[in-house]
Amino acid sequence: MSATVIDGKEVAAGVRERVAAEVVELTAELGRRPGLATVLVGDDPASAIYVRNKRSSSEEVGIRSIHHEPPGDISQAELLELVGSLNDAEDVDGILVQLPLPEQIDADAVVASLDPAKDVDGLTPTSAGLLARGEPGLVPCTPRGVMELLASAGVDPAGAEAVVLGRSNLVGRPLANLLLGANATVTICHSRTRDLAEVCRRAEILVAAAGRPGLVTAEMVRPGATVIDVGTNRTDDGLVGDVDFEAVREVAGAITPVPGGVGPMTIAMLLANTVQAARDRARSAAPAG
Ligand code: NAP
Repeated sequence: MSATVIDGKEVAAGVRERVAAEVVELTAELGRRPGLATVLVGDDPASAIYVRNKRSSSEEVGIRSIHHEPPGDISQAELLELVGSLNDAEDVDGILVQLPLPEQIDADAVVASLDPAKDVDGLTPTSAGLLARGEPGLVPCTPRGVMELLASAGVDPAGAEAVVLGRSNLVGRPLANLLLGANATVTICHSRTRDLAEVCRRAEILVAAAGRPGLVTAEMVRPGATVIDVGTNRTDDGLVGDVDFEAVREVAGAITPVPGGVGPMTIAMLLANTVQAARDRARSAAPAG
């Protein structure tokens, strides 16, 4: 029997609707719209498209987009100063510095300089540490989107065997922590994992985030498993994931397509994170009692 295909576009549209309703409430509460600052350094065409999409999606749900586009030869000190001014700006709730950054910039230092309360990408060491400790904080957008997709498909990770393919700070590690927080039994695989197929076959929830087209074959999937494909690979055949979709859908219980699965969730969760940051900042600023 063929797997249920999880429609990321539909789930993302639901998240945006929810966010738009929260923005209306928050705007009344704050006396201003929640604000998301984007910083695009230089003129990388792919980054420019990503940032444009993030800005227009923000405005669509009522979040104010505040944009900075410093030149590609900006110095480290100047960029840190810009981030510092956004950290201090009262009307900025979230800050997104689009990566990658030019060579002369130490990207880790720039990310680490973000106020964790405004870290809507969830990439600062503080955000990562809170997530690893199971404490509340801002969570990276793509992993948060994966959790939302699982919930939408009625998949409860509690007690389930979950296998995450990939250990990056952007996807694999935070996702493993989210699944652990949801009480799954989590295994993280990477390029040095021995007998990947055997480990993957244990998974009731299998998430592929390796950036390797065709890595997950039908033989690696436990019958009835939920398979989430984060991979985004540009090939001669167009955009493909890490999962052999046509073969795996005959074995899995539920599966995300590429495109149209995890992809649309990432921006939706950025908007959700911005609203969360605005709400949390407002609460922490409110006088106690
Ligand atoms: P990354 O930093 O390159 O990490 C890839 C991870 O996969 C690494 O941990 C690597 O292991 C592991 N890996 C690579 N080849 C493997 C293999 N043959 N077997 C087992 N593990 C293997 O990539 P990323 O930033 O996490 O992104 C992963 C994928 O998700 C990419 O295709 C990216 O484009 C996509 N992505 C999509 C979205 C979205 O919105 N849909 C967002 C972010 C990323 P080692 O650590 O041992 O090297």
